[in-house]
Amino acid sequence: MRFRQRTHTCGELREKNIGEEVVLNGWVDRRRDLGGVIFIDLRDRYGITQIVFEPTFNKESHDQAAVLRNEFVISVEGKVRRRPADTDNPELPTGTVDVMANKLIILNEAITPPFRINEESEVTEDLRLKYRYLDLRRTKIQKNLLTRHRMYQVTRKYFDENNFIEIETPVLMKSTPEGARDYLVPSRIHKGKFYALPQSPQQYKQLLMISGFDRYFQIVKCFRDEDLRADRQPEFTQIDIEMSFVDQENVFEIVEGLMKKLFEEIWNKDLKLPLPRYSFDEAMEKFGSDKPDLRFKLEMVTLNSVFMNSEFKVFKEQIENNGIVTGLLAQGCGDYTRNQLDVLTDQVKKWGAGGLIWMRVKEEKELEAPVAKFFSDDEKKNLVDTMKANPGDLIFIITGPRLKALSVMGFLRLEMAKRLNLIKPDAEPQLLWVTDFPLFEWDEETKRFYAMHHPFTSPRLEDVPLMETDPGKVKAKAYDLVFNGSEIAGGSIRIHNAELQAKMFKALGISDEEAEHKFGFLMNAFKYGAPPHGGIAFGFDRMVMIFAGESSIREVIAFPKTASAVSLMDDSPSTVSEEQLKELHLKIR
Ligand code: ASP
Repeated sequence: MRFRQRTHTCGELREKNIGEEVVLNGWVDRRRDLGGVIFIDLRDRYGITQIVFEPTFNKESHDQAAVLRNEFVISVEGKVRRRPADTDNPELPTGTVDVMANKLIILNEAITPPFRINEESEVTEDLRLKYRYLDLRRTKIQKNLLTRHRMYQVTRKYFDENNFIEIETPVLMKSTPEGARDYLVPSRIHKGKFYALPQSPQQYKQLLMISGFDRYFQIVKCFRDEDLRADRQPEFTQIDIEMSFVDQENVFEIVEGLMKKLFEEIWNKDLKLPLPRYSFDEAMEKFGSDKPDLRFKLEMVTLNSVFMNSEFKVFKEQIENNGIVTGLLAQGCGDYTRNQLDVLTDQVKKWGAGGLIWMRVKEEKELEAPVAKFFSDDEKKNLVDTMKANPGDLIFIITGPRLKALSVMGFLRLEMAKRLNLIKPDAEPQLLWVTDFPLFEWDEETKRFYAMHHPFTSPRLEDVPLMETDPGKVKAKAYDLVFNGSEIAGGSIRIHNAELQAKMFKALGISDEEAEHKFGFLMNAFKYGAPPHGGIAFGFDRMVMIFAGESSIREVIAFPKTASAVSLMDDSPSTVSEEQLKELHLKIR
């Protein structure tokens, strides 16, 4: 079958091309037979052009066109003309012209696809994922992948211009603890031994600093065997960065520069720098989250000082035990019904709070609530003033252990923002840093501390003595970049001496043997002159998702897995042959 190379793409022709002989190749997006004249919308990734088969213009190709169906792959030769009066299609960039077909070559036929490609019809995501190669023909998702492509290019160019070098690190490696479960790969050659797929190249990039590479970046696949959510995948992409001889400010500067470039190139928007910063403590107190969405205000207020001397037992107990009383003002919600309040109370309990206290603010700023009788007039007045409440408003109060109560109130904050419609679709995007994270996180279940970031993160040096006496108080040189309420990057200044690293492992309850077994190579490397270093990694998929205006990362990944970690298209994970298992010295129980 001979066909000519296209002269134009399907998105290219305009009025200036009228009269030209052209060749277009593509897929049949739509076919209309208007008794005598056949119209084809011809599609490729650049756009759609209307092709006209008219018997009086070319009988042979018109006859041939009768068999065309959606998704046939064709090559068309013809002449560009001005569309007849009143038939312009303002939806298409090519909409003022069409191509009168002289010659049609059918390059391939197609069976009827399970869904119409470019039609806003209800297609389940499962069906889309099963036929992902067809789903990927859709304009919207092609646009997303194009955005992703442009973001790769901006990133590479930016880091190259800033003297970073791109270095690949192994995919088969020794397990890195980033807090998730590893994907393991059994070794055939070494019976009973396993590689782990990297949760991140953390240790390698630190080793590269020890080797003197100074400024490293990599766009890299990482793997974590976790329960999935809309913004998680078992394999995902990071922009991984590490720098030597730096402190936090240097890392911030590089990252902010990249964000500015991306805003410019992808959104044609100016990003004002430097970005706002909140300490972890401040973010938790004001927004109940370490990834606050600042597209709306609605700040929480700590009320401990208001209830300092309260006789109300619930508050008294919490305040005495280092707990917190936190309030949220829902403006104009004073008329919420008992039923609405019960629904919110149930919700708050599900999130883990003991309960939800609410008070309606009445005329003269009187408070109406079941608990109002427990408070003195002073307390009530003080509360109304501190909350800046007005008649018609509703005050919510949650009390409990600090982080727990704050994060539940943070969820309520988001819920109220939804109910009050506070996040406008055209809200300015909000980027910020969250800094000074705790070094450790206490786990009630296992009754031990875990590294909040990862075990290579440096404590604030002034806090080092606390590592032994009061680990919960130690702050880390760790930071997150937050974008519209999503954490899109996280990093830290690292520990760069073996002694402090050993102290860290000890605080985490990792024995010397375990540390030696797991990280001996890294600890050893620290002894050969490790420069001070630090870095950060972006969750690239999540970042693309936000730039593309999507709410699921699956919309910006070519071949994603479902929420239960399967690929519906190729049916993985799948069983393997006895033979393969035997080679790997494995038996399925
Ligand atoms: N390796 C870290 C992560 O994947 C990022 C970093 O500390 O640079 O979260």
